[in-house]
Amino acid sequence: MNKVSMTIDGIKLYVPENYTILQAAKEVNINIPTLCFLKNLNEIGCCRMCIVEVKGARALQAACVHPVSEGMEVFTHTPAVMEARKVNLELILSNHNSRCQTCTRSWMDCELQALANKLSVDMVRFEGEQKKLPLDIGTSIVRDPNKCILCRRCVSVCKNIQTVGVIDVVNRGFNTQVASPFGISLSETPCVNCGQCINYCPVGALHEKSDVDKVWEAIHDPSKHVVVQTAPAVRVALGEDFEMNIGTPVTGKMVTALRMLGFDKVFDTDTGADLTIMEEGAELIDRIRGGGKLPLITSCSPGWIKFCEHNYPDMLGHLSSCKSPHQMFGAVLKTYYAERNDIDPKDIVVVSIMPCTAKKFEANRPEMQVDGLADVDIVLTTRELGKMIYDIGIEFPDLGDSDFDNPFGNASGAGAIFGATGGVMEAALRTVSDILTGSSADNFEYEDVRGLEGIKITNVKIGDLNVRAAVAHGLGNARKLMDAIKTGEKFHFVEIMACPGGCVNGGGQPLQLSDVRNWIDVRAERAKGLYKEDRNMYIRKSHNNPTVKRLYKDFLGMAGGSKSHQLLHTHYTPRTNYDD
Ligand code: SF4
Ligand code: SF4
Ligand code: SF4
Repeated sequence: MNKVSMTIDGIKLYVPENYTILQAAKEVNINIPTLCFLKNLNEIGCCRMCIVEVKGARALQAACVHPVSEGMEVFTHTPAVMEARKVNLELILSNHNSRCQTCTRSWMDCELQALANKLSVDMVRFEGEQKKLPLDIGTSIVRDPNKCILCRRCVSVCKNIQTVGVIDVVNRGFNTQVASPFGISLSETPCVNCGQCINYCPVGALHEKSDVDKVWEAIHDPSKHVVVQTAPAVRVALGEDFEMNIGTPVTGKMVTALRMLGFDKVFDTDTGADLTIMEEGAELIDRIRGGGKLPLITSCSPGWIKFCEHNYPDMLGHLSSCKSPHQMFGAVLKTYYAERNDIDPKDIVVVSIMPCTAKKFEANRPEMQVDGLADVDIVLTTRELGKMIYDIGIEFPDLGDSDFDNPFGNASGAGAIFGATGGVMEAALRTVSDILTGSSADNFEYEDVRGLEGIKITNVKIGDLNVRAAVAHGLGNARKLMDAIKTGEKFHFVEIMACPGGCVNGGGQPLQLSDVRNWIDVRAERAKGLYKEDRNMYIRKSHNNPTVKRLYKDFLGMAGGSKSHQLLHTHYTPRTNYDD
């Protein structure tokens, strides 16, 4: 790549000729403020926060989109630049519903507040008009159009990364809004509840529907036995809500905090993940041996399931019939655990702490019930758990470690890596390989399916069988892979997760500001934490988990047997899109 010579604030530098001014400034440790900008995703220069002076140009230029050139002289904080940025921000604030005290973003980092601080905006000189539009409240997602600053980040992620495209900019002038087609609620659209739009919204215009009050009510009800389970990806992200480094594993502190909150039992969804592998592995072996529908496609990501129901209804027969790990675990808690502990299942409240907003929708699906009882009663996101811990004043970083409760205290490393893209595939291969060969493989780390490439393909030799497998994460990649399968590409086994990077980057995880996301790959940092957990585990294959073995021996019978099918498997529903 050719380089150009330029100056920024008098500092000489040589940068690749395809850089923008914003990238070039970063090279000399100058952080130009941004608001709408997301690297490689939303580079549209619409908020005008990153404006700079370029010698010879007639107007101030947006640094996030303006390319560098040979001999360019840039000034990032002249009086004209500083005043223009302030005016632009004050204009945004003058139309903004600035009720910070009651805003979901006030306890986390609000990028608008942070920018007002950074630019020393301590008064707003303009009298704007504020919108008074109704909230759109779904099962998983809440949209507050009155707080929207029209940065279009959500539009970009929904359309370009997820290829769902159910929100866009409508109307003009003061009436401009981000909305669903025809102004209908998101829940009436093919929105898959993935929450990726929340992850990228800089303000409180998008958030999950909070179920924290329901959890407090259950905890304070002495007639209820309230059990909580936590997904693998939660433990490598929760610490971020308390200013710990991205991806720091906090499993022991999290268990301590959950006990302090008042849950009766604290269980590990990793055990449910081990159970999923037993069932899905049996299903894969059965389909390969019995000539069933291939590829078998994983079913643990509810955002992916809804996407498939809307976009590939003719392919639903390829989906594994396995419920997702927390739903399986919920069904076990309301049957096996209830029986063993002599508790009426109606008095058990199962709370799942998930990195995922789509799991709120999933838990409410009528298919996720056994004998009229929901497997899981309440789903909270990692963020909601962080808020509960914060609300009662627990100093999370200073907590000691505790272990999960028995009888579900053991989980395998395979269960832990479920939270990263490729993790379900790797966990399944570890088990299927041992079962098909009848021996225990020493080399069971499948590096080919790890990492952040959008679609990963591998061929694995198991005995005399060549297994061809593919992994996709993010729904845009899922769409590409599904289209390839539809046009004849052959695989035995496919893993799909709705969120880019997998659950570690789910729509319910702690928010990271664009200043962080633009320069650090949050997905990779959190995944590292999970692979570290796996390496440190004594048991690293699902079928070696003694809790799971006992569960089959005492209660379920065999993997893929009739009791498993009654409790742990489900079915899917073809859904229409607008134009159907
Ligand atoms: S989005 Fe930010 S600035 Fe707006 S009300 Fe919420 S916390 Fe305040
Ligand atoms: S939840 Fe996902 S599918 Fe729905 S609007 Fe947001 S990004 Fe799009
Ligand atoms: S909802 Fe959030 S991300 Fe979407 S345009 Fe509005 S402020 Fe930006």
